[in-house]
Amino acid sequence: MHCADVRTAISARADGEELPPGVSGAALDAHLPVCTECRDWEKRVHRLKVLTAGLRLV
Ligand SMILES: [Zn+2]
Repeated sequence: MHCADVRTAISARADGEELPPGVSGAALDAHLPVCTECRDWEKRVHRLKVLTAGLRLV
């Protein structure tokens, strides 16, 4: 599984969208523990989501 596919799926999942074709939640969960870069990406995605959610409330 390529990191690019994983990151696309992470973004989709964070937005509550469907995962891209060919990417399962189980595959994501299997990739994250072994890939530091994608874990960091997921953290950034969630932080950004929190920030933008806060902006909408203002
Ligand atoms: Zn990765």
